[in-house]
Amino acid sequence: MLMVKCPKCKKSFTSPIQLDEVSFRSSRIENNEAKCPNCKQEILIGQEDMYFDKGFNQ
Ligand SMILES: [Zn+2]
Repeated sequence: MLMVKCPKCKKSFTSPIQLDEVSFRSSRIENNEAKCPNCKQEILIGQEDMYFDKGFNQ
């Protein structure tokens, strides 16, 4: 499961973009607009804000 750490509230949520790890490593993700479900703010997410949570499906 690909997760996003909100740069505003620092809480994590499931990424609206789901990639496998290989695709993720070979992609450049920058300035992706999203709405944080925790703080309800519009945020821009980049690759550095994303990580894989291996506790769930993978
Ligand atoms: Zn937030």
